Amino acid sequence: MSVFDIRAAFEYARECVAAEQAALRYGIELNRGHRARCPFHDGKDFNLSFHGGGYRCFVCGVSGDSVGFTRLLFGYQKPIEALKRLNNDFGLGLDLEAGKPEAEHHTTLKQIKQIRRNAAERDLPEAVRRILWEYSLDLDWVQRNLAPKTPEDEPADVWVYALQNLSYAEYILDSFDNMTPENKLIFAIKKKEMITEYENVSRLIDGLRRRKNAA
Ligand SMILES: [Zn+2]
Repeated sequence: MSVFDIRAAFEYARECVAAEQAALRYGIELNRGHRARCPFHDGKDFNLSFHGGGYRCFVCGVSGDSVGFTRLLFGYQKPIEALKRLNNDFGLGLDLEAGKPEAEHHTTLKQIKQIRRNAAERDLPEAVRRILWEYSLDLDWVQRNLAPKTPEDEPADVWVYALQNLSYAEYILDSFDNMTPENKLIFAIKKKEMITEYENVSRLIDGLRRRKNAA
């Protein structure tokens, strides 16, 4: 399974399993208003709300999708562990063991040598690492700071985007860190479009943060 199939796997899990279903499955008690006592700040009141497949706590600010919920609940280090858990517990039928994310490329050794001769591209992996890292941090900031203030509020588009992309972003960052230098370079070149998208999203979130801090 390639990196992009993994992205589809995260999406599939989110579509199949709402955060509320995961909560129920893992023993969280819900009231009739689809609310629960938040296990993340050990809340006494029903401040954890489930809506639109996601969850958010109006006291401690955690929010996310079913993968994020499962990850936090079980204290998993990596989003992929939460994905595997949901895959097993909900019988999603995803084949997550089939391949290594960095293994799928067809760049020849000769091409790599050519790339390496170019000084600008030698610095690419480091630059890409920074973009992936900032993108994850930015989405995390959005999840914590731009969640709707009350359950009745319409969620902001950027918050929904963060909800849909944070687990995958963290997965990609972790995968990237575990790639060989050659594969990092190949990733940087082949995923140029995705990396540019991440850069643009980070820039947008940076603007939101500045505006929020100034307010
Ligand atoms: Zn909470």
